[in-house]
Amino acid sequence: MKAQLRRGACPSLAAPMLSGDGWLVRFGPEVGLSATQLGKIADMAARYGNGIIEITSRGSLQIRGLTASSAPDLAAGLADLGIKDRSGTSVVTGPLAGYDTTEIVDPRPLAGAIRDRIAQLNIFHRLGPKVSVTVDGGGALPLDEIVADVRLHAFKDGAQILWRLRIGGDAAGARALGNGNAQHAVAATIAVLDCVARKGIDARARDLDDRDLATIAAALNRSDVSIPTRSANPVGLFPIRGGMFARGYGLAFGQATSDAIGELAAAAGTHEFRLAPNRGLLALNLAREEEKILTAHANRLGFITESGDPRLAVITCAGAPACASAHLMTKALAEDIVSTRRDLLDGSFRLHVSGCAKRCAQPSGPNVTVVGHEANCEIVAENVALAENICAILLSRGRAHLSAPPG
Ligand code: SF4
Repeated sequence: MKAQLRRGACPSLAAPMLSGDGWLVRFGPEVGLSATQLGKIADMAARYGNGIIEITSRGSLQIRGLTASSAPDLAAGLADLGIKDRSGTSVVTGPLAGYDTTEIVDPRPLAGAIRDRIAQLNIFHRLGPKVSVTVDGGGALPLDEIVADVRLHAFKDGAQILWRLRIGGDAAGARALGNGNAQHAVAATIAVLDCVARKGIDARARDLDDRDLATIAAALNRSDVSIPTRSANPVGLFPIRGGMFARGYGLAFGQATSDAIGELAAAAGTHEFRLAPNRGLLALNLAREEEKILTAHANRLGFITESGDPRLAVITCAGAPACASAHLMTKALAEDIVSTRRDLLDGSFRLHVSGCAKRCAQPSGPNVTVVGHEANCEIVAENVALAENICAILLSRGRAHLSAPPG
């Protein structure tokens, strides 16, 4: 087994990462998963790992608690199921792309054209492992909170469909370069990636300056049409093409057991699943009656089924004991706050619980973070005027969940 070799690399099937609870793999299936495939993944997570399955904020799947010898077995098992990890530079479309009745345009052809050009020009080998592109067709589940090097977002200009190109960051923080049609969007995206590659393997699009980007921006239209930034809540009912529905469920604090995932997959029969950003799992092509039955199963199994569930407002990293760097039992603290003080979660901010100062799971938008340190907790508020009494409650609850409480 090859552990992570490239600087800044993410854990993958080929290069798992050692964590506090064993080896961890992360992968994003190229397409959806059949219910059978999802059920078999759940079996393998129990057989080869510790039975904990996670869906990340970017909509990737993580399997925890593997061993040095079981991680390759898992990778082989997934290959036998025909599950391919997204390879090369990640070009991401939303989980309902091509299905969503509310999207402006199906973003998959544009994403495919970008992937093809990346492959033809062999740029991938010159780019860092985290360099990514989002292609958002403007549907119900926006990609606005996903950080990317190049962001393309569809909008309508009269009868014309155009793409806004922004670089570096999430939608709120990225820098607008200009607008163009699909051909312009492909050419400009490839030009930005090539520019990043010329700066070296550790470079990201945020490192590019005006001089680097002048020629690319000059080829785009500068008209400034407003595209509001939206948050993606994967939990709920989404009408899709053909008069059917997709139903999204949330994993509380990003985790579910292999038993729960396996049972949900079994209840879904022959339906397809997609992983969704913000820790969601979508079942596709359901008739209304099927959706009601599946949602009743999801409820019983502990998945989040209501879009207003307070657990959706709490973001945690792995925390103790799963992460060896953690000083805080993040999941336990999150459970504690939701069950005893859900009044604090009024929807005006996200509560982020971080096991250490690294803040791996830092959400965008207004948020309050409880950070675990060796002998205490710290509260950090970003774009939130936090009342002193709430700060005191969070500190006191946080201290109760330190992994090594002060003696
Ligand atoms: S923030 Fe710290 S404790 Fe949490 S997963 Fe990252 S390294 Fe581990």
